[in-house]
Amino acid sequence: MNSSILKPIKLLLRDVLAEGLFLSEISDPSKRAIGKLTVVTFHRVLPENLRQQYPYPGICVTPEELRWFCIFFNNYFTPGSLTNTYQRWQEDEQPKKPFLAITFDDGQLDNLQYGLPVLDEFDFKATFYIPTLNIDEASILWHDRIGYCAFAARSSSEKIMQKTLELAQPYGIPVKPTSAFENHIIQHSKRISPEKRKQFIEVLEGMLKTSHPAWGRLMDWNEIRLIHQQGHEIGSHSMTHALMPQCNDQELKYETAESKRRLEAELNTQIASFCYPNGDYDARSVDAVRKAGYTNAVTTQWGKNQSEQSNFQLKRCDVNTFNNWNRKQQLSAARFALRLSGLQPGL
Ligand SMILES: [Zn+2]
Repeated sequence: MNSSILKPIKLLLRDVLAEGLFLSEISDPSKRAIGKLTVVTFHRVLPENLRQQYPYPGICVTPEELRWFCIFFNNYFTPGSLTNTYQRWQEDEQPKKPFLAITFDDGQLDNLQYGLPVLDEFDFKATFYIPTLNIDEASILWHDRIGYCAFAARSSSEKIMQKTLELAQPYGIPVKPTSAFENHIIQHSKRISPEKRKQFIEVLEGMLKTSHPAWGRLMDWNEIRLIHQQGHEIGSHSMTHALMPQCNDQELKYETAESKRRLEAELNTQIASFCYPNGDYDARSVDAVRKAGYTNAVTTQWGKNQSEQSNFQLKRCDVNTFNNWNRKQQLSAARFALRLSGLQPGL
């Protein structure tokens, strides 16, 4: 049988399994999360027309999709910000529905424009992780700069794509794409040193003459203060969105302690939570976060937290619309419940 016949059968079987487990309550999110702390991760909230212009659509939800996820959270969990739910969970508070912390990484303007109104509808509080130096400099994140370049090259022509790959080769990025174009460029860029990466971005932007769209900027300090004043938690996402294992001791101190100091000075509050950029961390990064005075830190390792989980290595469940579609390309509570259940993480 060829794959065009197999694919719909596979999708059907996957849905039948998800729906069967959901209806029989085996994958019931409330039951499977009892006594555990579930933390969900969002990045960008963009209307569909803008999502289509963003290089990494997999890390975007539309406002309508965010509403769908909030309804799901409301049905099965007691949602809140990270440090608040973490403390209540640690104190062994047992709400009717298990705790769930909602987190947003990167401090994108769209979080305020499109995400906050949806959270307000449910009166949910969340934690927003901010890359501090980018806010000070009103610059965008390095992975977005690379992404907009790669997206511009792919939208342009085969010739420009080829030229981009040739330009990337001296930086150790293979000329032959090993995955989708944008993904290939960004994944390999993460493996080069920060200085080389900076050079590469400048060369790339010079060749392609790209700049980010107006909707692509991060929040400024006034906007971050507004979110904080509304009862949401602000956490640190480092100074420069550095990949922590690549940093020397001095840089680790800068990325953790200095970002805490800047946030506390701007917001006049204690900053308790840290989020490892790209989810990359090692023993030295954990140590730096602890020494800087944070009380908890989140990773991108998938899963729910049990009581023995280290407070500086909290697991999270990344929320991706497309992973939770059923075969009709609609968000499916049964599919999302199965993913959260951990029964079959690959599904
Ligand atoms: Zn990030």
